[in-house]
Amino acid sequence: MSFQLRSEECILSEIFPKRRCIYCFQEKPIEEFSLEHIWPDALGGALCGDFFKTREVCEKCNNVCGLFVDGAFIKSWFVQMEIANQSYQFLNPSKPTAVPLHYLGVEPSLPTEEGEICERWQGPAGERIYHFHLADEERWDTFAGGDTIRRKKKDPGRAYLAFTSSNEYWSLTAALSFKQQFARAKRCVLTEVAIDDPKFAPILPVLFSQGDPADPQQARDKRVLAHALSNNGVHTRIPVQADFDGRFLCKLALGIGHRIFGKRHGESRYGTELRKGLWARNSRERRELRIRGTGMLGDGRATVAQELREFLTWPGAWTICIWNHGDRLAAHVHSPGGTKLSIVIAEELSSYPVIDAADYREGQIYLISLPGESFVGPLALPEVLAHKLGNRVVPILREIEMSRDNMSLLPPKKTSPPAD
Ligand SMILES: [Zn+2]
Repeated sequence: MSFQLRSEECILSEIFPKRRCIYCFQEKPIEEFSLEHIWPDALGGALCGDFFKTREVCEKCNNVCGLFVDGAFIKSWFVQMEIANQSYQFLNPSKPTAVPLHYLGVEPSLPTEEGEICERWQGPAGERIYHFHLADEERWDTFAGGDTIRRKKKDPGRAYLAFTSSNEYWSLTAALSFKQQFARAKRCVLTEVAIDDPKFAPILPVLFSQGDPADPQQARDKRVLAHALSNNGVHTRIPVQADFDGRFLCKLALGIGHRIFGKRHGESRYGTELRKGLWARNSRERRELRIRGTGMLGDGRATVAQELREFLTWPGAWTICIWNHGDRLAAHVHSPGGTKLSIVIAEELSSYPVIDAADYREGQIYLISLPGESFVGPLALPEVLAHKLGNRVVPILREIEMSRDNMSLLPPKKTSPPAD
């Protein structure tokens, strides 16, 4: 009888092959799996090589993690700043294009309507941007723009732009960026801008097609904003979740660990801790686990890797350095602005086949730049250091350096405070 049962299972597994998800560790039918970018799409994941991609993640984890793990990291104030600053380095001086905006938080003092809030953003030349929408559930407080799903569907809100630059290039860059950020919202302009160039004139009405002087809602918003515009100070509230990157780092380590060591990583003691860290409900639970790493806010302790910060920071790109420290393998991530995050990927390396970890004894580096449309790696750490110190030129790195458009070629912003 037991023999028969086993053979039925065997037959079933042949007809319905199963696979174990590296994030939830559940066995599921193979058709419930989808392509997961170990490094998130919004930070250039689609440009990355196969090392940063896996099909060993179930669709459910892929969706949940995209929204709440990668999302919490990417939509945090810190990473939003990084993304905006990074993209400004790749502006094309001869063609205005949309870039991400700076997120400044929630305006607590504006007399918004019952149940609404007003978020404040800033354009590339300091343009003032206000976005009214319904207040979301508390868990979205630390997400720039709030509830991602509601903003896309039910409640895209109403967005207003006040130009600050008298320069056409910057005004168009701001207008295109405003449209990109608030694609589904009702978009209105608060201040006039003089754009005389005939080739740009047809673009503007499309960018602000929803301005309507007869709309009482818009008239009310404009009255509220007139007061805000006359005040030059910025008084916003930026809620920050102390451990906004904790789950993200656990997920990154699980992904990279699986790519290097295969399923043994997920089965290891440390892999199990990482999985608990990914699904821990809060930072207190996560702190009780045996996970080693430091997030963007750091823990104040200087480490060897921190000393290397100036060499591993690449303006315009995120760098990921995978490095073997004794019996541990760690990932050191540096943001384009030079903030460092670290996470131990695996412990007890001696329990894995030598060949798996050997490649990382010198340190291997990957560079990822979404606005620069580049992905490079793996490069040996000593090679990157030699390039940074000017001892030798690594052609691919030189190419990336050259790809950043010279910011000195951009026109002056000629900013002026917006009129009331
Ligand atoms: Zn899963």
